[in-house]
Amino acid sequence: MAAPRQHKHDRQDCIPASQDTSSRAAKREYRILLVEDEPADAELMARHVRQSGMRSIWHRVDSERALRDSLSTFQPDIVLSDFTLPQFDGLSALNIVQKLAPSVPFLFVSGTIGEERAIEALRGGAVDYVFKTNLARLVPAITRALAEAAARLERERQAAQILRLTRVLRMLSGVNALVLRIRDLRELFEEACRLAVSVGGYSTAIILLQQTGATALEPVACSGRDSAVADAMRDMVAESAGHRNGVIDRVLKTGAGYVGNDTADLASTADASTFLLRVGLQSVVALPLLIDATAVGVLMLTTPDAGAQREEELQMLHEVAANLSFAMQYLQKDDAVRFLSHFDAHSGLAKHALFCERLARILAQTHEHSYRLAVAVLDVEQLSVINDSFGRHMGDLLLQHIADRLRRQFHDTHLLAQFGGGTYAVALDSTPIAPDSAAMLRTMLGAVFDQPFEIEGRRIPVVITTGLALYPDDGTDAVALVQNAEAALHSARSSGQRHLHYSTEQQSEVVARLALEHDLRTAIELRQFELHYQAVVNTSSQRIEGVEALIRWRHPEAGLIMPAAFLAVLERTGQIADVGAWVLEQAARDCQRWHGLGLPAVRIAVNISPIQLRRPDFVPRFLELTQAWASIECGLDIEITEGALLEGCQAEVECLKLLRKAGTRVAIDDFGTGYSSLSRLSELPIDTLKIDRHFISRLPEDQVGRTLVSTIITLAHALGMSVVAEGVENPEQLAVLRELACDRSQGFLFSKPLAGEDFATLLGASG
Ligand code: C2E
Ligand code: CA
Ligand code: CA
Repeated sequence: MAAPRQHKHDRQDCIPASQDTSSRAAKREYRILLVEDEPADAELMARHVRQSGMRSIWHRVDSERALRDSLSTFQPDIVLSDFTLPQFDGLSALNIVQKLAPSVPFLFVSGTIGEERAIEALRGGAVDYVFKTNLARLVPAITRALAEAAARLERERQAAQILRLTRVLRMLSGVNALVLRIRDLRELFEEACRLAVSVGGYSTAIILLQQTGATALEPVACSGRDSAVADAMRDMVAESAGHRNGVIDRVLKTGAGYVGNDTADLASTADASTFLLRVGLQSVVALPLLIDATAVGVLMLTTPDAGAQREEELQMLHEVAANLSFAMQYLQKDDAVRFLSHFDAHSGLAKHALFCERLARILAQTHEHSYRLAVAVLDVEQLSVINDSFGRHMGDLLLQHIADRLRRQFHDTHLLAQFGGGTYAVALDSTPIAPDSAAMLRTMLGAVFDQPFEIEGRRIPVVITTGLALYPDDGTDAVALVQNAEAALHSARSSGQRHLHYSTEQQSEVVARLALEHDLRTAIELRQFELHYQAVVNTSSQRIEGVEALIRWRHPEAGLIMPAAFLAVLERTGQIADVGAWVLEQAARDCQRWHGLGLPAVRIAVNISPIQLRRPDFVPRFLELTQAWASIECGLDIEITEGALLEGCQAEVECLKLLRKAGTRVAIDDFGTGYSSLSRLSELPIDTLKIDRHFISRLPEDQVGRTLVSTIITLAHALGMSVVAEGVENPEQLAVLRELACDRSQGFLFSKPLAGEDFATLLGASG
């Protein structure tokens, strides 16, 4: 008997922590099936086991049939069997157990048998042999047999697990290869599903995606070991995708993976449940496919065995999903998967619509009263300058660099967006550490742009303008917040501020301005502008020596609108170029017409915006318009403000020189309000200074004002310029100007600006 025992010991080496298993054995209640015809023997064995402290339930059989039945009904943990029975023998019993319950240990407990038969029995698969005469060995033998069985089970489980992990790992590297090779998303997804089944060993694999316009996810790829099962599964998943709180809904909402023996969760009907039960799919893994942390799709795998997925396997599956997500984000746009259009092609950041969607999702989840969130929309100031000076390529690179820095600064790239061009958006919620999210956002943005960007050896400093809106103060839904942050950005830009927090008053101005811009476009199309004319008289003789053309807008509803209300908008939008050209043409027409009517010859001064002056075609067009008919007494002059001729405006100065050569006189308008020094004026091609009416209005009482006006007149004369006083409203002012030898005067005292016809009449009367 020594040999077989030794054999047993060899195997026992594989049992992990034998002490542990025996203590576990002490706690568990074991089911012992006894093949024995002698009840007394059975009782004896049971007593031995009971006395050892092992808890057990016994069941005795003595026929082949009863044995077969009990294997399935009693489900024993171990079988103890006599070697010789009246109805059948121990070796047949061993055969039956080996066949029907191969993992259940089989132990002979019998009287003496020959050594040869004992060896035969052990070869046949019995784990041990205990003599009825030495029942003291029974409990240790049972304990060891149970421990061995448990260890074997564990080994098998591990082997299966390793096999499984190997398959999933092969699937992972297969998917990685696909991601690199396949450029078409749909094909990639199809192949990935196929791999999951053929290599990964899953029963079915389905990929679902959010399609533009659709509310629920739709399956885009599907594969299965059994194609009929796969198809049925796909239909069921598609149907369940719209269900709230279903597996897919949960994965989408939380962005976290789902593992469970919950195929029933997918089954929306009893039929479906029956189907799953029938095809034996018990376990499901659903992993999110993410773009910038937003779940836009789900990879769903099923296995027949419940709860088989271990941590390592899930990790690998997460990696598979991450790589598919990566492919989704970076593969070229596929029309079939149009959600890609939610992302900026260069930076990979979310676009406007997706940003709003994500924001809405976050706001929907917050129920805390103290929750605050700040949204900033920022604009890169000199993008067009960078494009113009270094080329578009450089501009595009800069935008990518900015996106990268933003990503690094705001780890939650989920709430970053690029609205197009150089406009970005970012949202930040308050945390207990940084409760003031607006301040935090400003600081963080400051840090992003405080260093110049180094691109292709160039250092490019970037200045941004920011508009900010705060939840819930400035808007309680995502769209309103983003809109208001954008509105604040527009206000900041038009008022020249770097940073502006949204406010309602500002915005009503913005709305009004936008309406005005719109109306002005109509005004240009329908030619709703008119020129009015204001006489400029000789201060001593009060005879008309010139006239200034002043624009008016004849609004169909609002009536006559003064230039102060719309000029700034025309300048900002660049429309001043068109309108200014019209003014020149109209002034030229009127001038020629009056001359043709035999009225006294007069020069018309036209106000020119710096924007007009900077246009390369300004001088040629001006000359073309006037040269044919102008003379010394009759023609067009121009008025420009000091600002147009500041240091460095050499091109503009050259323009003026050309015009003067052709006989046009140049006046500096609103003199005294700008910054130019009189010494600077001496270098400029100027004929006339027009003293701003604010200085005139302070006359005659204000002594300082009087001195100032006097100085301007003296110096202008010294520089060979003539002087016009603007806004002369009363005889006292006129008296002072006369005293100070001001050449000409203009103001309500002599005439208000008049419509063309009225001015013609005035002009006629003056002759
Ligand atoms: P400005 O060139 O200084 O024109 C003189 C302004 O003073 C005119 O205002 C005129 O109506 C006003 N004014 C004249 N005499 C008196 C007076 O005695 N008292 C007072 N209180 N005001 C007087 P207006 O017509 O509203 O024009 C405002 C400004 O709009 C002009 O100032 C000029 O800078 C600009 N502007 C007018 N027409 C044009 C144009 O066709 N093109 C461009 N670029 N600017 C224009
Ligand atoms: Ca003027
Ligand atoms: Ca003026």
